[in-house]
Amino acid sequence: MKTIVITGGVGFIGSHLCERLLKEGNKVIAVDNFVTGNKANVNAFLSNENFSLIEHDITKPLEIEGEVDQIFNMASPASPVDFPRIPIEILLTNSLGTKNVLDFAVSKNARILQASTSEVYGNPLEHPQKETYFGNVNTIGPRSCYDEGKRFSEALLLAYKRKKNADIRIVRIFNTYGPRMRPKDGRVMPNFINQALEGKPLTVYGDGSQTRSFCFVSDEADGLIKLMNSNYNKPVNVGNSNEMTIKQLAELVIKQIESKSEIAFEPLPGDDPAKRKPDISLAKKELGWEPKISLEEGLAKTIDWFRQSAGK
Ligand code: NAD
Ligand code: UDP
Repeated sequence: MKTIVITGGVGFIGSHLCERLLKEGNKVIAVDNFVTGNKANVNAFLSNENFSLIEHDITKPLEIEGEVDQIFNMASPASPVDFPRIPIEILLTNSLGTKNVLDFAVSKNARILQASTSEVYGNPLEHPQKETYFGNVNTIGPRSCYDEGKRFSEALLLAYKRKKNADIRIVRIFNTYGPRMRPKDGRVMPNFINQALEGKPLTVYGDGSQTRSFCFVSDEADGLIKLMNSNYNKPVNVGNSNEMTIKQLAELVIKQIESKSEIAFEPLPGDDPAKRKPDISLAKKELGWEPKISLEEGLAKTIDWFRQSAGK
């Protein structure tokens, strides 16, 4: 039995990690300040004696008694709607917050996995994106609080590895979706699914020709756990390489829900990446990981969840 700390543990991906790691028989400690996380995501685990929840903002030093084996540092707002709303908090969480979690990891002699993002590639000029690509980020644009915060966090992990021998893992997560995303999260999946369920127009930004590649959350959690338990300590892309346009996604959601909704085109937000698709050959080679859930199957599970949680 390992003791595993998950910062951002009540969030979307964090809560799925809690569930998986508890099922595997570990002791799990979730740390969260609830800025974007929904406590209901972990309600089902509160009665589990191997689970505990600590309300804490990681921009303050982290102290937990006892031994810790592994830390997943998932804490950070992640939706583009949060970038103009709380940019300073996002920058501080990924910089000062990551430093505090790293100091905690070093003090416990624990392995730390940092949740980085495909956003470190910005609006990529290389396609698909390999881990060796340095990226194309606008340092002062509307997404820079997130992109530069995550780039700083990667640099800080490497500095802690070189100077303090920290035991690090870095995952670059690509667009992930599934149950427990906030209905008003603002990301494309919850927006489209809720709009289609309510018979409202699906808001496609721009002409919908921009692409993304969507990974179901159980596959993503599996990749993160495999990376944590591997010997590979440089950044690894974990995502699904099934690329599609946002207009195609809108059409698929309408079809799967059998909704009468139409598509409404709205202005494209600034610096919205034109295309994104992970090259996952490194994850396949080093982790023996690849996604298993098709978009149709993952969408069906996600739609069911949003149907059941409507009005709650
Ligand atoms: P989420 O918003 O659902 O979860 C983030 C959690 O972190 C929330 O529970 C929030 O309350 C908590 N948090 C934020 N700032 C904190 C702070 N200062 N102290 C303590 N807790 C704090 O988002 P998510 O989609 O689950 O993302 C989880 C991680 O994965 C993030 O680091 C995000 O950048 C990364 N990521 C996610 C995606 C994706 O598609 N979901 C893609 C790339 C990277
Ligand atoms: N998007 C959209 N309509 C929405 C929400 C998002 O067309 O209601 C687009 C957005 O402009 C982007 C893509 O869908 O091109 C994915 O957006 P999301 O916010 O989910 O994540 P991103 O990949 O941009 O971080």
